[in-house]
Formats: sequence, structure tokens, C-alpha cells
Amino acid sequence: MNPGSLEHRRPFDLRIRATRAEVDLGPLRHNLNAARALTGSAEILAVVKANAYGHGAVLVAPALEALGVRFLAVALIEEGVELRRAGVRVPILVLGGSYEGGYDWRVNYELTPTLFRLEHVEGLAQAARAVGHPVKAHLKVDTGMGRLGVRADELEAFLDAIRSYPEVQWDGLMSHFANADLADALLTREQVKRFRTAHQQLLARGLSPQWRHISNSAGVIDLPEVRDGSVFNLVRPGLMLYGVAPADRMALPTDLRPILSWRTRVIHLKAVSRGDAISYGSTWTAPRPSRIATLPVGYADGYSRLYSNRASVLIRGQRAPIVGRVCMDLCMVDVTDVEGVQQSDEVVLLGRQGQEQILVGELAELAETIPYEVLCALSARVPRVLVQPEHT
Ligand SMILES: *Cc1c(COP(=O)(O)O)cnc(C)c1O
Repeated sequence: MNPGSLEHRRPFDLRIRATRAEVDLGPLRHNLNAARALTGSAEILAVVKANAYGHGAVLVAPALEALGVRFLAVALIEEGVELRRAGVRVPILVLGGSYEGGYDWRVNYELTPTLFRLEHVEGLAQAARAVGHPVKAHLKVDTGMGRLGVRADELEAFLDAIRSYPEVQWDGLMSHFANADLADALLTREQVKRFRTAHQQLLARGLSPQWRHISNSAGVIDLPEVRDGSVFNLVRPGLMLYGVAPADRMALPTDLRPILSWRTRVIHLKAVSRGDAISYGSTWTAPRPSRIATLPVGYADGYSRLYSNRASVLIRGQRAPIVGRVCMDLCMVDVTDVEGVQQSDEVVLLGRQGQEQILVGELAELAETIPYEVLCALSARVPRVLVQPEHT
């Protein structure tokens, strides 16, 4: 091809390679409804940080907006800007705290910050003065997570100091649970108590933030008092919207449905002899004459090297084991026991095929991590493809 030609400059279709992540809006709506059924009168803020937990924020966020969530939340200013540029209009909360600068971006893109240091308030007030109107912020208190937020013993002084910045409107008060997924609710209940105290302190100073929120998915599922609609009137589910329960004991009662399936195709199929080795380090050798399929997916796509010789994939509705090391761009599967496998057959890395299913929790266990990390690991080079709901 002539490199100067227009054809060469045409934005190229990232679906040339068969590897892709399909995002299904049907189960997304189901999971949102499951969250709504639990939250009573509290409104929903849907967390779409980290590229919507790997699902593709520019696909998922507009869908959630159309489904009527009151807020979206991201971790970074950059993530918020991406959503605004994609046309998202619903209020967006930036959870990840502040870093120096960026206040003008927040104001220009109408991203609501969570503030907990005086210099944040100063920075935002300056940006507000520059545009000539007040701006909204949520105040974050640290009730036990020990990560971000004004701590209880600093709150009175903080509330004194912020009186000097009338440009900042305190639209929300928030905190974050450390242990809501654990069966032991001791700290969680203590955090709720500390939050209520902080809320009282604000009220005593004439500050009455419209939105009060502390609950992640685990809190939504497990703790009725943090969705009572009086003190707590907003909840912040993330993981459950993607169809994954934050703890095994929460899986059954919530009936969540995964919305992502990760698929690829066989790009090479071969017969190997007993004793032949597969992949780097020859960590697997064929114990019998075998048929080995090669897949165009590797750890650079987020398919962890820890899945080497451990994970399974689905092909022709059956499980087949990954053999040898997962490479950067490729991995191999033993399909000897799967009848009739052919070049170009579809392979499921995550999701359902026929009667079989691979859940994100299964991969998380193999990699000794949590479902969140498996999903977030899906890298930028895996195209996300929207699947429209079949039954509307
Ligand atoms: C990620 C996050 C959430 C959502 O947590 P899930 O466990 O995914 O529901 C809520 N609040 C804050 C501050 C977060 O960082």
C-alpha cells in the first residue's frame, strides 16, 4: 500500500484480530434493577472508573445514563473528561481525590470533585472565581478506610476553614467502607456511626449537603441502614453493576449477571507427538499425541501469565486447558478431548458458551487476586464491542 494514500490513513478497524470483549447491555440493566431493588429510596451513583472496570467507559456510561442513574463516578479527572467528550451529561463525581492543578479542567468539564484538604478547596475556589460562578464539591471524611478524607479529629478545624470559600458549594458528604465485603461488620458499623456524627457536625454549622453516601456494592447488598434514604440518600455500586458479587456469600441472593464476555478464535491448530513441549520454558510436554490450538491473546491483553497451565477456555461448548506459558500475544490450548475443533473456531476466555461458563471469579482465584483486578487488567488493545439486549 502507498503510505501516502488516503486508504492508509483511514482509521483502521481494531477488530481485525478476533480477540474482543463483548459488553451486553441486557444484563447491565438487570443488574442496575437488582441494585435499585435493594436501595429503596436512595439514588444510584454508578461507578465507571478504570474504563468501567475494564468494560469500556464510553460504552457503559452512556448506557447507564440512559437507564436513569443520578450520578456517575470516575477515579480521575482524565476519565471524567473522556466521558464528557463522549457526550455524557449526567453529573460526574471524581472519586480519586485531587492532585495539584486540574481545577480548571474540573470546572470546565463540570466534574464534581471530592475534597478533603484545604489546598483542594483553595484551588477549586480559585477556578470558580475565574469562571465567575460557584461550583459544587463533595466533602470526603475518613471514617476508617485510612486512605482519603478528613479525619474525625480534624473535621471541626476543616469546617471552620472552609467558611472562607463561599465559591465552593458542599453538595455532598461522603466516606468509603474498608470491610463491607467481610462477614465481620464491626468496623463497617463503626464507620456508619462516625459518618452520622460528621453529618451532624456539618448540620450544626448550617451545611446541609444534598447527597450523603458511603455504600459500595457490598454495602448496598448487606447493609440496610446505609440506604435508608434519610441520612444516606445515594449509593455507589460498581462491581455489582458489572454482574459480579463482591463476596461469594452475596452471589445467590442478588442474582447478578456478568455483562462482559471475552472471546477469540483459533488461529492455528496442529497435531503434536507425545513428549513435544509447548511454549516458553517448555513447562508443558504432551503426555500423549495431542491436538494443540493457538489463540491470539496473551498477557499484553490482560490474560495473565499466572493462567499458564492453570486456566481453561471454552471451545465447542467444552472446557479445554491452557497448556504451557501464556505469552505476550498468544497462548495454547490442549483440544485433544474436544471433538471436531477447527481452525477459526470461537473460543471463550470469560463468559458463556453453550452450557458452560467461565466466571471472572474463577480466573481471579487462579491469579490469586480479586475479580476487580481481572476485569481492570483487560488492556486497551482488546476492542470492546457493544451487544444490544436481545429482549427489550
Ligand atoms: C470503587 C469505588 C466504589 C465502588 O466499589 P464496588 O466495590 O465496585 O461497588 C465506591 N466508592 C468508591 C470511593 C470507590 O473508589
